[in-house]
Amino acid sequence: MKCIVCKTGETHPGKTTVTLRRDQTVVVVEDVNALICDNCGHYYLDSPTTKKVMDTLTDAIARGTKLEILAMKAAA
Ligand SMILES: [Zn+2]
Repeated sequence: MKCIVCKTGETHPGKTTVTLRRDQTVVVVEDVNALICDNCGHYYLDSPTTKKVMDTLTDAIARGTKLEILAMKAAA
């Protein structure tokens, strides 16, 4: 699809690193499947992936973690 950010690039499937921040907690998730713009590098996550990443952040906050870095596991 066409990138909605730069409006010139095309998106391609690939892997990216997603960094999330809420309050004092930072979660970095590596190896996340995404569609990545070949022009500006903006990435798009599908909704199951977004949910997984958000769950990871919520979980880290619940445990009082300040910084968590992990690799996204393939869906079981
Ligand atoms: Zn773009």
